Amino acid sequence: MGTVYLVGAGPGAPDLLTLRAARILERAEIVFHDALVHPEVIALAAHAKIVAVGKRCSRISTDQRFINRALVEAAQRYATVVRLKGGDPMVFGRAQEEIDALTAAGIECEVVPGITAAVAAGAELKVSLTRRGVSRSVLLATPRVGTDELPAEWMQAAASADTTVLYMGSGEARQLVDALKAAGMPGTLPAVIVESASLPGARKLFTTLDELPERAAEVTGGPAIVVLGEVLREAVVAATRDTTALTSESQLTSAVG
Ligand code: SAH
Repeated sequence: MGTVYLVGAGPGAPDLLTLRAARILERAEIVFHDALVHPEVIALAAHAKIVAVGKRCSRISTDQRFINRALVEAAQRYATVVRLKGGDPMVFGRAQEEIDALTAAGIECEVVPGITAAVAAGAELKVSLTRRGVSRSVLLATPRVGTDELPAEWMQAAASADTTVLYMGSGEARQLVDALKAAGMPGTLPAVIVESASLPGARKLFTTLDELPERAAEVTGGPAIVVLGEVLREAVVAATRDTTALTSESQLTSAVG
């Protein structure tokens, strides 16, 4: 019986991979990877059979039960099996389902953490997600719910955190904003959409909660994360001051508050 390693590939840039992840990939015999993993990271698994199972890899997303079963079967044939996921495998990565399936089958598994998108977005923005006197709590949330789940009551929690980071949220920005405002978030709250954090094509769209849906339409197809909170105020004011396309600086400064 082999070991299955649930490995975080980091947010995109290949050199943000951990050394531990690189070493495991080098001796991997089979790698099941998600779509957002950089080809250079996959290339480290020079001796492995490579299997793409991510949602963006095929039009029909690979069923989670199929992945669980494939991992179990792989561990019965290979000593080193890698399940390679974008960011950190344990943050909105369905890692628990895989861990549970492996444990139930009596298969050894280990988790190798990776840099999650929220952390990469903070770095991209050069804004600390926590900040003395402004932000003592950071919430990682997603509006996405599974087919058999009820929409989670996450908005209340999002509205009470100092800084909120929303994964998989930019595609449904209108409903998102309505829900967050209904939960008490002010429309003037500074907001930033970070697309492809850590990658050469990274983009930062500075805005407010109210204007978020308009800016979300500018996302060009890379993975995008939404950051909301007072910690962003200076960055949003500075960025919008530099944008000549804006009708007037004072208008935006007042929009931001
Ligand atoms: N396990 C991953 C998250 C998987 S969910 C992690 O820890 O980062 C996929 C979502 O993550 C995307 O829809 C997007 O919201 C976010 N994401 C992943 N990579 C990103 C990147 N480089 N820049 C911005 N957002 C990213």
